[in-house]
Amino acid sequence: MAFYFEDNFLYCDGIRVKEIQSRVGVSPFYLYSGEQIEGNYLAYTQALAEIPSQVSYAIKANNNLHILKLLHSLGCWATLVSGNELRLALAAGFEPDQLIFNGNGKTISEITLAIQRGVMINIDSFFDLDHIQTVAEHTNRRARVLLRIAPDLDVTVHPYLSTGLKETKFGLPISQIPRMTTLLARSNHLDLVGIHCHLGSTIDTVHVFQETMAIMARHFTEIRSQGFPLQYINLGGGLGINYRHDQSQHPSPGDLIAAVRAEIPTDSTLIIEPGRSLIGNAGILVCRVIGVKRNVNRSFIVVDGSMAELIRPSLYQAFHYIAFSEPVTGPVEVFDIVGPVCESADFLGKKRRLATPPEGTCITIFDAGAYGRAMSSNYNARMKPAEFLVADEVLHQIRREERFEDYLNLFEPNEDHI
Ligand code: PLP
Repeated sequence: MAFYFEDNFLYCDGIRVKEIQSRVGVSPFYLYSGEQIEGNYLAYTQALAEIPSQVSYAIKANNNLHILKLLHSLGCWATLVSGNELRLALAAGFEPDQLIFNGNGKTISEITLAIQRGVMINIDSFFDLDHIQTVAEHTNRRARVLLRIAPDLDVTVHPYLSTGLKETKFGLPISQIPRMTTLLARSNHLDLVGIHCHLGSTIDTVHVFQETMAIMARHFTEIRSQGFPLQYINLGGGLGINYRHDQSQHPSPGDLIAAVRAEIPTDSTLIIEPGRSLIGNAGILVCRVIGVKRNVNRSFIVVDGSMAELIRPSLYQAFHYIAFSEPVTGPVEVFDIVGPVCESADFLGKKRRLATPPEGTCITIFDAGAYGRAMSSNYNARMKPAEFLVADEVLHQIRREERFEDYLNLFEPNEDHI
C-alpha cells in the first residue's frame, strides 16, 4: 500500500507525511506515490497482457512533467487535449507516434503542430475535418486520424462528467458517420486508422463499457468493410476510483478489460485512455489546520488548502476522503472542512466525524492526484502549490510552488501600452 496509517500517522511509500510536511516548508502541497502510479499502470498492462493493446495516459488528469516521464518510462502513450499538452508530452520524451491529439476545438496552430510532428489526431466534427484536411494540404503531409464517435450511452455520473451522449459537444453522432466516411474516402491527405470514444468520467460499473465496445466494434467492422485500413479501437478513459474508501465494490482495470474482451474486433489494437484510475489515488493534498470555528448548528475545521488547489468538491460536489495525518485526540464532532477562499462554495468535505484538532495539525485530502493540481487556479491571488513525489523511499520535489514574484512578472510593466 502506497499510503497507509501506522500508529495513526500517515505514511507515503515508507515516509511519514507529517515529517515530509516539516521538511518541505510549504503548505498546502501535493504528494504522489511512485509505487502507486506504477501499480496502477501495471494493473492495466497485466489485464491487457494477451490483447494487442496500448495504454494512453490522459494528460489532462495531471500534467506534471516528472509524472509524464515516469509513465513514459513504463511504456505508456499519452492522450492530449491542447497544443501545450503536446509540447509537454514531447518534453517528457514521448515519441510523436505515441501521442493522440483529441479535442472539440483544436485551433489551426495546434493542428499544424500535430501534423508537422506526425501525431495522430481525433476528428471531432465536420469543421474539424475541414481544418485538419486544410493543414495537411498546406503542409503537404499525410495525417493519421481517428474518428471520435458519441455512442449515445448514458452513464450515471455527474452531468459535467458525461461526454458520450448524442447531445454532448464531443464527437460525432452515429447518424453522421456515413457522411464523414464519404468525405474521408475522398481525402488524399488523411488516413483513417481508427475510431475513438470517451463516455465520461468516474464510471463505477463495467457493463456500460461492454455495451460501448459492442457498438464501437459494429462501426469498426462496418467502416473497415468500406476499405479503410482501421487498426485502433479507442475506448477512452473513465473508470472511477473508490473516493469514499468504503467497502463498495469498485471495478478494477482487470474487470473493465474482462468485460470488453469478447467484443474486441479481430486484427485490431485496443487503446485505453485512463487518467483518474492511473493517477487519482496516487496523490494527496496535504494541508494544515488554521483553526476550528463553531457557528450556530455548524462546526468548521478551517485549513490552508482550498477550492483554488482542489476544485472537485466545489465544482462537482465530489467526495474526497479526509483524515488527519497524525494522532489527534480532541473530542469528536461533525465538521465541515473548509478553506480560506472568499466563497461559500469553498469546501473540501462536509459533515465529517473527526476529532477536534489543534491548530497546525497535518490533515490530508485523499485521492487528489487526478484533476487536482491540474485544475488549480490563482483565485484570491493564491499561488499554485508545490508537488512532491516519493520514489524508492526518497522524496523528490517535482514542481516548486508558484511564488508571488512569478505572478507579478506576468503583468506588463507599463500600462500606457494598452
Ligand atoms: N480520454 C478522453 C478523450 C477524455 O476526455 C478523458 C477525460 O475527460 C479521458 C480520456 C480520461 O478520463 P478519466 O480520467 O476519467 O479516466
